[in-house]
Amino acid sequence: MTDVLTKEQRRKNMQAIKSKSKLEDKVTKELWRRGYRFRKNTRNLFGKPDISIKKYKVVIFIDSCFWHSCPIHGNSPKTNSEFWIKKLNRNRERDEEVNRYYFANK
Ligand SMILES: [Zn+2]
Repeated sequence: MTDVLTKEQRRKNMQAIKSKSKLEDKVTKELWRRGYRFRKNTRNLFGKPDISIKKYKVVIFIDSCFWHSCPIHGNSPKTNSEFWIKKLNRNRERDEEVNRYYFANK
């Protein structure tokens, strides 16, 4: 399979994925340590939350800086930029849709 990303983009992409799972690990380990029982990547909930705690009706989304266009750490790759702008904009729309859903149904 040919890679749609340049080497540099791929490297950043892998970094972004790693930093997200590291962050997820920190959060889930701490929740577990404090006695919360939760599910990860809950497919039957809207937006597939990273963590959900049924008992408290809580969903947690761990939005990584890159994929969710964090205003502080997010950046749009300079090469193949049209592809990335579209992709990151889609993510942002999706995030907003998910936020609206949960704020409307709390
Ligand atoms: Zn950030």
